[in-house]
Amino acid sequence: MHSDPDTCDLLVIGGGINGVGIANDAAGRGLSVLLCEQDDLAAHTSSASSKLIHGGLRYLEHFAFRLVREALGEREILLAKAPHIIWPLRFVLPHERHLRPWWMLRAGLFIYDHLGQRVRLPGSRAVKLAEDNPLRPDLLRAFEYSDCWVDDARLVVLNAMQAHAVGASILPRTRCIAARREGAWWQVTLQTASGLREVRARGLVNAAGPWAAKVIEDALDLPSPHALRLVQGSHIVLPRLYAGDQAYILQNVDQRIVFVLPYEDDFTLVGTTDRDYRGDPAEVKPTRDEEDYLLAVIGHYFRQTVDRQQIQHSYAGVRPLLDDDDSNPAAVTRDYTLSVQGQPDQPPLLSVFGGKLTTYRRLAESALAHLQPWFGQMGPAWTAKQPLPGGDFASPLALEQELEEAFPWLTQAQRRRFVRSYGRLCWRFLAEARSAADLGEMFGAGLTAAELGYLCRDEWAQSVDDVLWRRSKLGLHLNAVEQARVAEWMQENAPADS
Ligand SMILES: Cc1cc2nc3c(=O)[nH]c(=O)nc-3n(C[C@H](O)[C@H](O)[C@H](O)COP(=O)(O)OP(=O)(O)OC[C@H]3O[C@@H](n4cnc5c(N)ncnc54)[C@H](O)[C@@H]3O)c2cc1C
Repeated sequence: MHSDPDTCDLLVIGGGINGVGIANDAAGRGLSVLLCEQDDLAAHTSSASSKLIHGGLRYLEHFAFRLVREALGEREILLAKAPHIIWPLRFVLPHERHLRPWWMLRAGLFIYDHLGQRVRLPGSRAVKLAEDNPLRPDLLRAFEYSDCWVDDARLVVLNAMQAHAVGASILPRTRCIAARREGAWWQVTLQTASGLREVRARGLVNAAGPWAAKVIEDALDLPSPHALRLVQGSHIVLPRLYAGDQAYILQNVDQRIVFVLPYEDDFTLVGTTDRDYRGDPAEVKPTRDEEDYLLAVIGHYFRQTVDRQQIQHSYAGVRPLLDDDDSNPAAVTRDYTLSVQGQPDQPPLLSVFGGKLTTYRRLAESALAHLQPWFGQMGPAWTAKQPLPGGDFASPLALEQELEEAFPWLTQAQRRRFVRSYGRLCWRFLAEARSAADLGEMFGAGLTAAELGYLCRDEWAQSVDDVLWRRSKLGLHLNAVEQARVAEWMQENAPADS
């Protein structure tokens, strides 16, 4: 570990999944790492996804075999690393005669079953839709296949925690405003709430997602090797539309597909859309047209009618895709490209263009392989087998029982949520408690002062949105008065920006 806080081997710009993934891998290999994120961890694309660890069935239509193979293999690796925030999800793909033919779906799923490593997840099969299923009664046949669910923002936070545990400095609300090469170093200027800070790094990683090209051009004053295509995708949250744990993958007449996913026990998540976006990525919001589009897909497939009054929440994100000049935003490649700028005798700049949550770990390994010539001392790859923090348990059910034995006074809903959000990490705020009262003020939906204190202390939470919309999705479960009280508590107790 290094002792001077203002010098490091690697400075990572961006606290989305790709930035924390690279920081974590690098720190675990013995490099001294500093990560700066201008907002909260996962504040942007990495908390606005469809929340799937998936091979990407539809990418097969675009012959993206490399990406699909890599992503399929990652499903099982990530499932084992993080059984608290990642779990299997069975998808139903109903067949509509006038859309993709039956044989084509069967062939696609055959490839999907066999292209990547699959041990725990069951394969696909054709099914007859039961009479009591929630879809239109004239839909009779479907396929089923498996992918995984992930809590996207928590995947980011857990990687940041693991990086921190092996020595990385994680600096949320810290913006990189300039960097220039000086001999063997990058001289980097960071802007924090309390002023400017100068840091020297032997290598720079630009994982700024939708801002990646802008960081190179504006902060580094260099030409960007690639252009980004920013493609907006939005989701709506409806009250739960159907019983059961299954998800649906629905084909639309425009050839796009829309996911319908069980969400936070009481809700159904519907998304996504694809539209070119040219504004500030931080300002992206779902449009009325996108919401109508998603409602229309539900109206077309489900027996139950839905209208906009039922939308409980909606969110949008911007995919930072490598611009491949495709006229259709849905067809632009979802694969990633890493670019290294710098001669062997110069400190390197590695930039990430594109990428999926699903492939973040492999992307990080590839990033470090690219940086190897500059950091000959770094250790070998290690992330495939190491659980993420809190993920060292075999089955969520067994862990829930363990929690019940240790803390019989927790409600069943609390136990379930703690296992799904924190895994073993929840002992950090429960261990000292002997009764529910010991957890302090109750804010609603099982959220207590003890949990908030832990989120501030160990997970870098500073604002009400950090805890209600990223570290958890309790924003869906607390009413306005309860949310206001959480905001008040955070203002009084959360650490001020450094
Ligand atoms: C609608 C939608 C659905 C998706 N669904 C899925 C899915 O189901 N499964 C899947 O695998 N993938 C999915 N993806 C893709 C996935 O979410 C993204 O590829 C991934 O989150 C990108 O992560 P990132 O770290 O590159 O970018 P981000 O998460 O945006 O992180 C970049 C960070 O850099 C920070 N930053 C920028 N400039 C600076 C600066 N100067 N200084 C400091 N910090 C800076 C930003 O604040 C930001 O937090 C989806 C994407 C979208 C938009």
